[in-house]
Amino acid sequence: MMNLIDDLHKNKDLPDAQLKEIIESDECEQELFEKADGIRQSYYGTDIYIRGLIEFTNYCKNNCYYCGIRRENKKVKRYRLGKDEILSCCKQGYALGFRTFVLQGGEDGAFSDELICDIVSKIKTLYPDCAVTLSLGEKSHDSYNAYFKAGADRYLLRHETANAEHYRALHPDSMSLENRKKCLWDLKEIGYAVGSGFMVGSPYQTTECLIDDLRFLQELQPDMVGIGPYISHKNTPFSDHKNGDLHLCLRLIAIIRLMFPDALIPATTALGTIDKRGRELGLTAGANVVMPNLSPVNVRKQYELYDNKICVYEGAAQCRGCLENRVASVGYHMVTNIGNKNSAKKYV
Ligand code: SAH
Repeated sequence: MMNLIDDLHKNKDLPDAQLKEIIESDECEQELFEKADGIRQSYYGTDIYIRGLIEFTNYCKNNCYYCGIRRENKKVKRYRLGKDEILSCCKQGYALGFRTFVLQGGEDGAFSDELICDIVSKIKTLYPDCAVTLSLGEKSHDSYNAYFKAGADRYLLRHETANAEHYRALHPDSMSLENRKKCLWDLKEIGYAVGSGFMVGSPYQTTECLIDDLRFLQELQPDMVGIGPYISHKNTPFSDHKNGDLHLCLRLIAIIRLMFPDALIPATTALGTIDKRGRELGLTAGANVVMPNLSPVNVRKQYELYDNKICVYEGAAQCRGCLENRVASVGYHMVTNIGNKNSAKKYV
């Protein structure tokens, strides 16, 4: 097993059969994490980048079987933030040292392209030293292009699963893996820094699906790779499925770090939800980004993608402070620079 870890480190790749072994075995897990941590430190030192997450709408036209804000969940109280509310989240975030704002939401037709462009360009005018990241789901090439021209720098769109059959098991027929991938290629072509990723332990996922995910990432070469455990939500068709496994998720973070040494890899909220110290463990397995929540506290609980989501009662400053302590507890430092992938530099 140690040889496999060394090979993965050296070649940034392994044949499928060996990848399967590393993914499935917890033997030498600690060594895997240490190796990944070492690589991360050689590119990013002890720096941990922060992104301020603004969950601006939980209306969604889609019906993904795993997601708590799917259209057919009638129990969720829907909300959308107005432009001024979003700007006020940015103002508060800027004062707290955030230099990246991530606008994330369901696919909500009430936000026209004009409105998104207006919000993006306003943020860029007020805070020219900040990056704006969008995470609004699948849009047309023209829409992505318009947001980019308005000043958006980055786009997060997890592919969710790169295995066509698995994709079908997680999504209704109105959605397709083909279109999801096309969106990611469009975003890259336009010039966005792109983040993709997938859930770990989603229903019907096999190790072969995870290998397909890694192979797709090798093709796409995204700047950021966001992964987190699947966590069931009581009001979805998948309510009876079990949650993803913490250790499997940590191993995948480490494997992704070894395969993509300078990637931006967040220690996600979902990781912090399945385990109290999940995000800290994610950092020690190779992650280098955290995303504190900047959404207004009165709506946070409603952006419930999965049950028991953490950080729903704290304000922005509290959330940042809490994460800063968590980051420090494992020996890293939260930094406030813009945190692009190309700010990765060799420390050794
Ligand atoms: N509408 C946007 C944002 C989706 S929410 C988009 O389509 O990209 C952000 C991410 O949360 C999703 O990409 C998905 O990977 C994750 N997510 C959704 N439901 C989840 C669940 N039940 N458990 C864990 N992660 C989930």
